[in-house]
Amino acid sequence: MFALTFLGTSASVPSAERNHPALLVEAAGKRILIDCGEGTQRQLLRSGAGFRRLDRILLTHAHLDHVLGIPGLFSTLGLRQTSDVMTIHGGPGTLDIVMRLLAGLWGPGRAPIPVEFAALTEGQVIDAGDFTIDCFPVRHRDTDSFGFSFQSPARRHLQPDRLASLGVPDGPLRGELAQGRPVVIEGGRTIDPEDVLGPPSGGRKLVVIGDTETTEALSQYVADADMLVIEATFLDRDAPTARDYGHLTAAEAAAFATANNVGQLVLTHMSGRYEDEEILAEAARIFPNSRIAADFDHVVV
Ligand SMILES: [Zn+2]
Ligand SMILES: [Zn+2]
Repeated sequence: MFALTFLGTSASVPSAERNHPALLVEAAGKRILIDCGEGTQRQLLRSGAGFRRLDRILLTHAHLDHVLGIPGLFSTLGLRQTSDVMTIHGGPGTLDIVMRLLAGLWGPGRAPIPVEFAALTEGQVIDAGDFTIDCFPVRHRDTDSFGFSFQSPARRHLQPDRLASLGVPDGPLRGELAQGRPVVIEGGRTIDPEDVLGPPSGGRKLVVIGDTETTEALSQYVADADMLVIEATFLDRDAPTARDYGHLTAAEAAAFATANNVGQLVLTHMSGRYEDEEILAEAARIFPNSRIAADFDHVVV
């Protein structure tokens, strides 16, 4: 299960309702921030999420709307005297910009909190046991952009009716079977896990793609995602502008979701020039299970 809190859903210019991009993903007791636009620290407070256990930031790219919140957040964490190491993951070009940003304020290699930089290359970012995060390259103007795929494995659960009919008693023997180990029950009979485990279920896949100028070559990473969070900066009537600025339209995002058997589509990074209803209507015509993210939306997948 992944719990998402949208902390900022605007494109490059914020509005009274929408802050600069940031998304908090929580899973198995871990909290991961994706992008950190200006003012993200206050959005963390306003959302009720706060700063605790926040030790990892994934950056899609280093355009200012996605990274300018980092110095303010680190300054606050420093004043709170946190000793946790903050790990920032981003493409090498993205990390270079963030390092220069921090160096400009605090001096080369310095920051108010301990920081580790982890350069992304396509593949696994972390294996947290209960879930994994993979990254993949995304094309967005002249940036070093990445998208992220969160996956929790499907698990096989014990089938109560089969346990009962085979006479497996409550207690540790069932635990052994759940772990995939055979057991011997009273009377000397061996019960194999295959006899009592159901089919795999409950696996989840969440894909988050930041700014992107095209969906080409991204299908392999998005296929069958339970949820896709992706930018939709423009509407189709402004497709030429979307091309010029390296962004998608709502219709393009929706067509991409349809083509890849996505469960739910969440659009974010919206230009303030449109009404939400207009954006949603354009997407839902093509992909009915679409929604428009708003700041402080909490969504579980
Ligand atoms: Zn952006
Ligand atoms: Zn951008």
